[in-house]
Amino acid sequence: MLKIGCHLSISKGLTNAAKETVKIDGNTFQYFSRNPQGFKAKEWDEKDYQNFLSYSSEHNLVRPLVHAPYTLNCCSSKLEVRELAQMILKSDIERLEKFPDALYNFHPGAHTGQGVEKGIELIAECLNSIVKPEQKTTILLELMAGKGTDLGRSFEEIKAILDLLEYKEKYGVCLDTCHVFAAGYDIVNDLDNVLDEFDRIIGLEKLKAIHLNDSKMPFKSFKDRHAALGEGEIGLEAIIRIINNPRLKDLPFYLETPHDTLEGYAKEIAILKENYKW
Ligand code: FE
Ligand code: FE
Ligand code: ZN
Repeated sequence: MLKIGCHLSISKGLTNAAKETVKIDGNTFQYFSRNPQGFKAKEWDEKDYQNFLSYSSEHNLVRPLVHAPYTLNCCSSKLEVRELAQMILKSDIERLEKFPDALYNFHPGAHTGQGVEKGIELIAECLNSIVKPEQKTTILLELMAGKGTDLGRSFEEIKAILDLLEYKEKYGVCLDTCHVFAAGYDIVNDLDNVLDEFDRIIGLEKLKAIHLNDSKMPFKSFKDRHAALGEGEIGLEAIIRIINNPRLKDLPFYLETPHDTLEGYAKEIAILKENYKW
């Protein structure tokens, strides 16, 4: 069964997002842990959470992926920015410990001129200060397109971060198809070699989720602009090969494509389901 869903707002609660997911024929979804640009989190609603759990099990939904605000930067050159990032990550993870086995995705951060090595050290330092051995939540590092001083633009950079982490079993990787394509991994013509390389450098067992997006920007542009499936430089055929790849087919796929209405996602999900051969 294809695990597929899209990014949804939880401003009306988790249960509502789960219902929207069922409406568009998905079985999982992604949401922001808090306002993606500010840092305000919604107040915890225990009743909504309990309803969400029972609704999810009735409808066979797969656990959602929780995305950290993308403005947080735990490797900034500014101490106050790093401290804020650390505080947000810590409180998000504490909240997610209520879930049986949450998946929490974040952007590694931008070194803002300090250099790759220093940035990687700061990211690891931040995570090591937060993660405890009893933590159930799995933290995913998202592969990035490589704009500016963003870290996580290559398998090697992600591996370098992972190498510095304590409790390695608490971490995984999220592959965003738009990002890796823009970063220069040819998932259109050479998917199997890209996956071999991922396996050699990071290990495919670390790959826990896929952000399924087309890219408005060309290959190796290092620019992060998502397009609707089939409306970008990756193209629908390559996307369909990705969901059907034997090494990827069982992973959860999350659409982060630009649509104003649920309808747009429903159409994409229908196309993907029609073309999923497993
Ligand atoms: Fe992201
Ligand atoms: Fe993404
Ligand atoms: Zn992106």
